[in-house]
Amino acid sequence: MSVFSTAPEVEVRERRLHSVITYNGTAKDLYEKAKADNYAPCDRSFSQCSSCMGGQGGGVVAHIRDVAMVCHAPIGCDAGMIGATLAARGTAAARKQEPFDLHVMSVNLQEKDTIFGASDKLKKAIREAYKRFNPKAIMVSTSCASGIIGEDIESVTEEMEEELGIIVSAIYCEGFKSKIWSSGFDSVFHAILRKLVKPPKKKQEDLVNVFNFEGTDTFSPLLGRMNLRVNYLMALTDLAQLETISEAVCSTTICETLSLYVAAVLEEQYGVPEIKTASPYGIDWTDTWLRAIGKVTHREELAEKVIAEEKAKYESELQELRTKLQGKRLYVVSGDSFAHNLANIGKSLGLELAGATSLHHDLKTDNPESVNTLNALIETNGDIPNFSVCNMQPYQVIKILERLKPDLLVCRHMGLTGLGSKLGIPTLFEGDANYSIGYEGVVKFGRRIYEALQTKKLVENISRHFEHPYTDWWLNQEDPFYFEGGNTK
Ligand code: SF4
Repeated sequence: MSVFSTAPEVEVRERRLHSVITYNGTAKDLYEKAKADNYAPCDRSFSQCSSCMGGQGGGVVAHIRDVAMVCHAPIGCDAGMIGATLAARGTAAARKQEPFDLHVMSVNLQEKDTIFGASDKLKKAIREAYKRFNPKAIMVSTSCASGIIGEDIESVTEEMEEELGIIVSAIYCEGFKSKIWSSGFDSVFHAILRKLVKPPKKKQEDLVNVFNFEGTDTFSPLLGRMNLRVNYLMALTDLAQLETISEAVCSTTICETLSLYVAAVLEEQYGVPEIKTASPYGIDWTDTWLRAIGKVTHREELAEKVIAEEKAKYESELQELRTKLQGKRLYVVSGDSFAHNLANIGKSLGLELAGATSLHHDLKTDNPESVNTLNALIETNGDIPNFSVCNMQPYQVIKILERLKPDLLVCRHMGLTGLGSKLGIPTLFEGDANYSIGYEGVVKFGRRIYEALQTKKLVENISRHFEHPYTDWWLNQEDPFYFEGGNTK
């Protein structure tokens, strides 16, 4: 069955990829169960917090330069855009590009709109966005409120396209549709693939699509050595760049979780091969990733040259770091594939993996041949005995950390990062996902980890003064998860 369809919406991950937000066991057990289609996702009886797929989708679109975004939502749904503004400015500065401001508006749905409908309000907002920002395309994001009242967004976008003469595309990302907020990535990529991407006019044999967030430019120095150009998507891209992503020689990513859908569609619809190895985090995964890119771009010899030279360049510092970090136990908390990436860098630095928590887990990939990063981690590093899937839930993470007492926590979720310090665990926040790629990235990660470990006395002091809200009854429970239902079908 085709991955892509021209239908306005793409299925959420629970249905498409059987993604789950609960698991506790070992990495190998989860992988085996997923492979045998023998994992019955269970729910948790209590959810402390979560995130919305609308926020993820919006975060991607809002960073496209000449595209405006209209949120058909109550104003609060898109409050997170304030953070996106800062991220966009920071990325532009880090990449030494022109400053960039977000072009986002909210329809500000009110209670009466949910009774009488708000199509006219939406049209007014689209016209206003066109007038204010002069965009080349407008993306309309949906919300729980617009979904519940059943607004006919397709008709509005078609009418406005005709009136304004530019593309107006809807992103169907109502928060209630999915507990996997990464479903929002698929919604936004679907909206882009459906209306913005054009069939290739010519192949650009040196252009590599790199799906990423608002990170620093670390891919160009590495791939530039193989005479390849990096097409960073989506942050700070523009419409012209988007239209031609079908012309790239291949697609790669900082995280399978972010781009599995768009990469699979680009391969299926336009013959842009997806790099089917784990992303370049850790020495061994950088080797295999560069070789895969060398193969698909017919630059095998160049790839070997880059691998040999880069490894030689960082070998002595890497050895030094391994000695300094010897015996330290690392715990990782991050989104699905990115947790595997961070764990693999830890292994390259000789750290012992105390365990890992991924914020959700996709049991399948859209392209069955795509890399399974959990399996890649098991193959290169062995099983991970303490492996869990948990969509944030600080009340569970605190118990895991207290039980395992790692020497160091690496966290990609800002809200959970403070938990480490409060428990007296030196913690590293991995905010810029591009920063630690490649051989140099492993060394930079090691330096930062070493620095973080020097905060041990400080965080122990913090933990002595920290009072968490959990009762002794809760903290003394054997099972920190309280899942409803079992793990096996
Ligand atoms: S879950 Fe619904 S109400 Fe909450 S932010 Fe998302 S779209 Fe808005």
